[in-house]
Amino acid sequence: MKIKNQLKLSFMSIAENVALARVAVAAFAAQLDFTLEDIEEIKVAVSEAVSNCIIHGYENDPNRTVNIICTIYDDVLEILVEDEGKGIADISKALQPAFSTDPERMGLGFTFMQSFMDKVDVKSALNKGTTVTMLKRPQNAAAAVCEEN
Ligand code: ATP
Ligand code: MG
Repeated sequence: MKIKNQLKLSFMSIAENVALARVAVAAFAAQLDFTLEDIEEIKVAVSEAVSNCIIHGYENDPNRTVNIICTIYDDVLEILVEDEGKGIADISKALQPAFSTDPERMGLGFTFMQSFMDKVDVKSALNKGTTVTMLKRPQNAAAAVCEEN
């Protein structure tokens, strides 16, 4: 698939940067024909993925780096969020709704990512890090309505 545009972001693992990442990715995503609702969903998915890197991957150590690579292919947005932190021991367990290794948390981050994005893929290795790759395609509501009529 041909790459139409790409954004790479690297930032320190500080909670304040979650909002920065969310806004930057949303502005980039707006180059595709997403609805405002889609953009809000993308923001939530990015927030959840980046928060996980900071909280779980780096256990709140502020001196590490989170990387994001956003790519627009023909008609699809790919968002890759990665850390080089502690990794996930059991990915299928981690993806289950309400599973968290932290009893204080809801365990819903991955559930939001999966419900708001078309596809979520998690790759992880213990003590090496985690990469979450998410895809979302604009549904082009206007075209769909035209076809119906
Ligand atoms: P919430 O997102 O609702 O605050 P949570 O972060 O625990 O709670 P999820 O985001 O669904 O829930 O993540 C599930 C579990 O997967 C986490 O509890 C954590 O153990 C693990 N996990 C997720 N992302 C990472 C990561 N980047 N590095 C290491 N572990 C992770
Ligand atoms: Mg989470």
